[in-house]
Amino acid sequence: ALADKLDDAWKKLRGQDKISKANIQDTLKEVRRALLSADVNLQVVKAFIADVEKKALGEGVISGVNPGQQFIKIVYDELVKVMGESNVPLANANEPPTVILMAGLQGTGKTTATAKLALYLRKQERSCLMVGTDIYRPAAIDQLLTLGNQIDVPVFEMGTDADPVEIARQGIAKAKELGVDTVIVDTAGRLQIDDDMMGELSRIKDTIEPDDTLLVVDAMTGQEAANLTYAFHEQIGITGAILTKLDGDSRGGAALSVRQISGQPIKFVGVGEKVEALEPFYPDRLASRILNMGDVLTLVEKAQEEFDLADVEKMQSKIMEAKFDFNDFIKQMRLLKNMGSLGGVLKLIPGMGKISGADLAKGETQLKRTESMINSMTKAEKADPDLLAQSPSRRRRVAKGSGFEEKDISKLVKDFTKMRSMMQNMGQGMPGMGMPGMGM
Ligand code: GDP
Ligand code: MG
Repeated sequence: ALADKLDDAWKKLRGQDKISKANIQDTLKEVRRALLSADVNLQVVKAFIADVEKKALGEGVISGVNPGQQFIKIVYDELVKVMGESNVPLANANEPPTVILMAGLQGTGKTTATAKLALYLRKQERSCLMVGTDIYRPAAIDQLLTLGNQIDVPVFEMGTDADPVEIARQGIAKAKELGVDTVIVDTAGRLQIDDDMMGELSRIKDTIEPDDTLLVVDAMTGQEAANLTYAFHEQIGITGAILTKLDGDSRGGAALSVRQISGQPIKFVGVGEKVEALEPFYPDRLASRILNMGDVLTLVEKAQEEFDLADVEKMQSKIMEAKFDFNDFIKQMRLLKNMGSLGGVLKLIPGMGKISGADLAKGETQLKRTESMINSMTKAEKADPDLLAQSPSRRRRVAKGSGFEEKDISKLVKDFTKMRSMMQNMGQGMPGMGMPGMGM
């Protein structure tokens, strides 16, 4: 089609037909800044970006999206892929009990996560026993007992004088005796990595041979998450992680560090102090949060989902040939709707942030009005807007059917015709833009 040819020529002229180092330079910087400010470790950022850049360079630019935007989309996809690649559920041993070992620094949320997991499993009809091996802080055992009470899950403990390794061993025996499905062993942490903690953890692990060893990482840990993960994985060997305190300000970059350094999946995220505040890990949600250029990103993402290339091209040639009718129009409106509320979509467009809530509400109402008018048209009228332009009686019928006045229908038809010739003059345009009835 002519539109495609023009489009191609235009891109070539500006050298934007392929993603190149030059045309994504600014975006690259932005992505790097976003990752760093989300507390992804510097080394991880460098490696990740180099990797994505290599994949993106030379890729053809999708019509209607600039290379920078497309690059962000590639970064996003890669981020989701990297973090979700081996999205493994919690271990579930063939022969119960499944043994889960919790590891991590002090204060990261191990004990809380132990109870959260127990509750989560209980809701899936998996019975649990929680084992308290933190003998260093008397309050730690009490904390576990209180939580156990609260969620109605038994706790095994031997006070603060017993040896943690022995407590863990007897805890497993107890779990077998009780016939529970899963036993979760909570452990003591230290404020920072030290040999005592690692030694003890390592002995516990050798003794109970867990099916899952979960590193509990506070999302607020920031850059340090990488070192932390490295140390625990190197010395203990983890099979997954729980990222806690994601309800805070943190953008969750620690997730990428943990994933890249250990190669192990994030299995859950903690989103609050309450025992219910545990969610399975959704890589796409976290990728958006980490990039937090949310705006452009979400728009590109949604646009790509909704406007598949073929459809856009078909629409463009229809516009060129003046065949764009009310059916196409309603299709475009539905696309817009699928993309979220109009307000949501407009807010994503750079520079549109200043539109007031009242304006947006008005736009949405207008769209709904327009849609109900079109719904009252006959098949023939939808396919040929001129029928309505020429016949007052048709307009009156549509008005009656949709609960509007004839002048409203006249205005819609007039606006539509105007828009169609405008679109034709532009040759091409983002479908859905400049629609009548949007009131702005
Ligand atoms: P532990 O030392 O690793 O066992 O950590 P705790 O389980 O005792 O938790 C330390 C503190 O973090 C407590 O005040 C918890 O309530 C809090 N905490 C744990 N997980 C979360 C979470 O996901 N969100 C928030 N906001 N607080 C959490
Ligand atoms: Mg604890």
